Amino acid sequence: MSEHYDAVVVGAGPAGSAAAYAMAKNGLKVALLERGEYPGAKNMFGGTLYSEAVASLFPAFWESAPLERPVVRDEVWFLDDSSAVTLGFTGLHYAQPPYNKFTVLRSRFDQWLAWQAQQAGALLFPSCLVTDLRWEGSFAAGVVTEQGDIFPASAVVLAEGALALLAEKAGMRGPLEAHSFTIYVRLTFSLPAARLEERFQLEPGEGADLVFIGYPTAGSIGKAGLFTNKDSVSLITGVYLDELVQKGASLPELAWRTRSHPLVRRLLDGAILEEYQAHMLPKGGFRQIPRLYGDGLLVAGDAAMLISGRHGADLALLSGQLAGETVAQAKAKGDFSRKMMAVYAEKLKNTFYYKNMQAAGDALDYYKQHQDADFLLSKALNGAAYRFFAERMLTDREKREMVLKELAGIQTPIKDFSDIWQGLQHWRVL
Ligand SMILES: Cc1cc2nc3c(=O)[nH]c(=O)nc-3n(C[C@H](O)[C@H](O)[C@H](O)COP(=O)(O)OP(=O)(O)OC[C@H]3O[C@@H](n4cnc5c(N)ncnc54)[C@H](O)[C@@H]3O)c2cc1C
Repeated sequence: MSEHYDAVVVGAGPAGSAAAYAMAKNGLKVALLERGEYPGAKNMFGGTLYSEAVASLFPAFWESAPLERPVVRDEVWFLDDSSAVTLGFTGLHYAQPPYNKFTVLRSRFDQWLAWQAQQAGALLFPSCLVTDLRWEGSFAAGVVTEQGDIFPASAVVLAEGALALLAEKAGMRGPLEAHSFTIYVRLTFSLPAARLEERFQLEPGEGADLVFIGYPTAGSIGKAGLFTNKDSVSLITGVYLDELVQKGASLPELAWRTRSHPLVRRLLDGAILEEYQAHMLPKGGFRQIPRLYGDGLLVAGDAAMLISGRHGADLALLSGQLAGETVAQAKAKGDFSRKMMAVYAEKLKNTFYYKNMQAAGDALDYYKQHQDADFLLSKALNGAAYRFFAERMLTDREKREMVLKELAGIQTPIKDFSDIWQGLQHWRVL
């Protein structure tokens, strides 16, 4: 048995490292346990990290953190098989402090984050798979590792990510349900920086983030996206886990479908496939948030299903911080009971993301009832755009009627409007 800790944190992702950082900064003795060889070794996302949240914990983090590119170009592409209706914004102010968001490679960023916790005094234990919690009555009193080592502690923060097997074991949530998760494949292609910048119309150092709706998922609920790193491009494609099973779809095939789209293909021309990874993402929404606290126990980040829109890593960081601060308060009062731990849930309820998740509750139901919404909307928009941009020998009135007929031929304009409305909430969810 190792020495006693004030707190043990399971998982050195954004939630775990932020929790460990907050506690160590408050003078607590903290062990941060990570199953990977190093923090980030097993982690991946699209992805972009939203600056404001990170800066609230680490001001001017961009001066020391390993980031890829500040994103100045943000686009949504509604893809049909040979066309795209695009909606986008390029904002050059986002290339300057305090920035808006950065593309990031987690294998680098997570190490930096864990290092911040270590510098504050937390002890990091890599290659350390936690297999169980240690209990004293109803209180979580530490953890047990695969090697049989025991880490006794006054509090445990579960920040183990989407699968949350320990949270399930501890009765904080039920078994994993396929309809509450999406699964994503990420293909990473190397592309020299100068070529990448020329192709995406970026100045040196700037980044782009493109979301692809419609064609890539072939009728399943999901989406694809492309992110520019320093000298590589990440292409992700994902769908709901239950749909994958029900429709007998193949994720590698969907990923290749995205990569082979004629407009995506030209963005990747000459790029070399370097890496293939897959990862789950909790997407059950507000109603799937598990029990967040118990005696001596807190759950943070993806393990607590805290995903809102395209925000995930930043919310993990923020919820980890709140969990860490709550344990520090508990330590100051010498009270680790669930009544004290409930402060964490109260703090969460006042956050912007909890409120957003609450407000977005119905978007998921809508998409479950209209599984083809993205696909049909993309078809309708592209069909109408083909008519609109075609230079024909027609009167304006004839042209207008033709565009409207095209829209109505695929689905009613009211449903188009409804899909766009619901989609505004849903598309933000990767
Ligand atoms: C394809 C994809 C794209 C995404 N894009 C974005 C994006 O653009 N922006 C964004 O903000 N978010 C994005 N996300 C979501 C984001 O990645 C997550 O919300 C975030 O990583 C959650 O952080 P976490 O610390 O809770 O969990 P994780 O990052 O999953 O970290 C959990 C850690 O716990 C460790 N661990 C697990 N079990 C154990 C155990 N038993 N013992 C010890 N260690 C353990 C793991 O190795 C891991 O290091 C994306 C996710 C995916 C899959």
